[in-house]
Amino acid sequence: GGVVVSVQASAVEDPIIVAIDGPAGAGKSTVGRAVAGRLGLEYLDTGAMYRAVTFAALRRGLDPADENDIAELSESVVMSLDPTPDGTAVHVDGVDATIEIRGREVTSAVSAVAANSRVRAELVRRQRRWVAEHHGGVVEGRDIGSVVFPDATLKLYVTASARVRAERRVAEIGGREHAARGQAAGRERAREEA
Ligand code: C5P
Repeated sequence: GGVVVSVQASAVEDPIIVAIDGPAGAGKSTVGRAVAGRLGLEYLDTGAMYRAVTFAALRRGLDPADENDIAELSESVVMSLDPTPDGTAVHVDGVDATIEIRGREVTSAVSAVAANSRVRAELVRRQRRWVAEHHGGVVEGRDIGSVVFPDATLKLYVTASARVRAERRVAEIGGREHAARGQAAGRERAREEA
């Protein structure tokens, strides 16, 4: 079904912040992008930030469960998230990680990284800075409405039936894993050629 959203800004100087939370596979990104497009706001996928830190850790051969190493990495890593027509392009320390952050290796290690409280504190800082710099935005991910932006203009909780979520997750993981293997293989070939 369609999503109808209308927000009245209370004051011109108040930035509009839309916080989106909900379980995996519910369609948060689809709804988030639609809302951002409708309101003329930029969109931040915070899950991609946790995935970017995880990608950086695996690339350096760090143990995702080593709290100190991963916390320090999260504080120093350079990541850029840029909107594209079909999602977000993600660069990590200058390397294009757009596809691989969705692959199996990152997906199975990211929960250890997301459980690290220093990593969370650092990424929350970066999320608040992003919103300040963009003068608001649509921000999607766990804890966004409750912890990161408790005073958000609008909080959406997006969910779907268990069956639809399961189907969507299987389709996402299958497609992304295939693409991620391709990106890793391409980089390996480039290294060999160089
Ligand atoms: O949404 P996505 O699957 O990309 O999130 C990747 C991981 O990061 C998940 O384990 C999710 O719970 C975690 N995460 C988080 N806090 C956020 C966004 C994602 O802990 N704000």
